[in-house]
Amino acid sequence: MRLLLVEDDPMIGPTIQTGLKQDGYSVDWVQDGQAAELALANDVYDFLLLDLGLPRKSGLEVLHNLRQNKNRIPVLILTARDAVSDRITGLDAGADDYLVKPFDLDELSARIRAVMRRNAGRAESVIEHGPLMLNPATHEVNLHGKSVLLSMREFALLHVLLERPGTPLSRAQLEDRLYGWGEEIESNAVEVYIHSLRRKLGNEWIKNVRGVGYLIPKTI
Ligand code: CA
Repeated sequence: MRLLLVEDDPMIGPTIQTGLKQDGYSVDWVQDGQAAELALANDVYDFLLLDLGLPRKSGLEVLHNLRQNKNRIPVLILTARDAVSDRITGLDAGADDYLVKPFDLDELSARIRAVMRRNAGRAESVIEHGPLMLNPATHEVNLHGKSVLLSMREFALLHVLLERPGTPLSRAQLEDRLYGWGEEIESNAVEVYIHSLRRKLGNEWIKNVRGVGYLIPKTI
């Protein structure tokens, strides 16, 4: 899952980025509203973490423009304790949730998962698909009730594919979702992770759609 973090505070930005990376997300960080719009126009993100008080263009303006352009990316706004009216305006402008600074990184993580879940139309916190179960909070994967050990990237890849079974994603799309700016992508990385996921789960779990990409079958 790839996140865009928009935060001008030079202390808070790297702290959030590092914390979420440890959680398995790939996180790009920008420090003003214009850079945020540029990043959103050029890259595909699964989630936007948006500070409201920003140089060059406010977070509210960024949010407003996004929704006006029918961009439905999940947005969690980060606000100061005293800015109650900003929070209300933010939610009304189309934010999915908010968090008041200072906050705990574990809470931020939990809220991101909750928003993603709602966005995917799921009420439960665990993703189940046939005999396969993936828990985004604990990073556990079970197949037929048995635990399967996956690396961080294997887990992230499986998570992305499990969000929409039956929908193929190309190698480039998968790379986009797994890697942030400046992260070196090993050549054939996606193929390597697909190969090891098939080895650990069974070949039937990930289908190759010739010329299109990879998918997890809708029914298995
Ligand atoms: Ca700020």
